[in-house]
Amino acid sequence: MSLFSLSSRLPIAKSLIKNRLNYCQIANALRPKKAKSTRKEAQYFSDAKKVRAVGGKGGDGCVSFLQLWCNERAGPDGGDGGNGAHIIFQASNDVRNFNHVGSVLRAPEGGIGSAKDCHGKNAKHMVIKVPIGTIVRNTKGLIVADLGQADLMFVAARGGAGGKGNRFFTTDKETSPKVCEYGPPGEDCSYTLELRSMAEVGLIGFPNAGKSTLLNALTRAKPKVAPYAFTTLRPHLGTVQYDDHVQLTIADLPGLIPEAHRNKGLGIQFLKHAERCTLLLFVLDASAPEPWQQYEQLMHELEQFGGSLASRPQLVVANKMDMPKSAANYEQLKRELSQANILGISAKMGQNLAHLLSTIRTVYDRHKAKEQQQYSS
Ligand code: GDP
Ligand code: MG
Repeated sequence: MSLFSLSSRLPIAKSLIKNRLNYCQIANALRPKKAKSTRKEAQYFSDAKKVRAVGGKGGDGCVSFLQLWCNERAGPDGGDGGNGAHIIFQASNDVRNFNHVGSVLRAPEGGIGSAKDCHGKNAKHMVIKVPIGTIVRNTKGLIVADLGQADLMFVAARGGAGGKGNRFFTTDKETSPKVCEYGPPGEDCSYTLELRSMAEVGLIGFPNAGKSTLLNALTRAKPKVAPYAFTTLRPHLGTVQYDDHVQLTIADLPGLIPEAHRNKGLGIQFLKHAERCTLLLFVLDASAPEPWQQYEQLMHELEQFGGSLASRPQLVVANKMDMPKSAANYEQLKRELSQANILGISAKMGQNLAHLLSTIRTVYDRHKAKEQQQYSS
């Protein structure tokens, strides 16, 4: 190869390496490979659930006396009942919410004992899978279990032990007892299951800001979109995949209204959903007059709610940038909220969404790195 051709190729190689480095640093969001689901019924996401767990009743013991051809009174032979099943919550990677958990859980009963010393069958324990990061609270609100790792288990209700048959009560003095035990009922306990973390990104905004439209545009989720308040009553979740195989989950939360911290609208319940998101994405309606007031009102609600909600990493998007008044409002918004990360988008028209996804990833990565640093120091 001549010296000339080598020197002319070097800059190309350099720029290729540079591009590759840039590519490695900023992960790009991928388009979903599958089309949107054709399911008719809405799929909700339940991040908290009240359940009543009733353990299985123990099987009853049996009163029986053995009769043989050469010995008519061969003695008591009533078998014991089997044990009732426990109800067990097990943390698992297979499930992500509590949709599959019924509100009343009843474990199977133990089998009854029978003659010839036959013991009843022990019932099979009822193991219910719950997502990793489930917190179990009792009726007083105290945390009784924190299932933070896969396969951790919590026995929610113990089944009754099997009752004894009359064979058990045989003694030297009482050789033919006519008594047996009933199997006791299982424990009956009520709990609240809560998810510690629901999604990496939570969409926060007033009703009609365009949160559901944004989730529709970014992911395969299909929350209902309509121009009236409280279209979304329960969280909806969608997932964005990046080209480095990282997946971020985005939650569309019900709209917040002023005085939500005093339980107006969906109030406290809404704020509890928000508490389970790592990063908060404020969706403001840029076409409405003075959109910065929306931000201040939302922040006020989060601060009043208390906890770490107001200090979570956050990103602000000005939605509906396709509307005529939005451009002027957006400039003013940037000046008013100079300290916040602000992006102008149009969820309906798909404007600036790729940029939004890469910004979300950058903010999320920065937060994770900070967390890691705090953890190691
Ligand atoms: P949510 O209550 O925040 O979930 O709001 P929705 O997503 O249900 O949207 C409320 C209304 O705003 C719907 O009529 C949407 O079509 C409309 N909308 C949402 N995003 C945009 C946008 O970017 N541009 C315009 N022009 N309208 C939008
Ligand atoms: Mg909505």
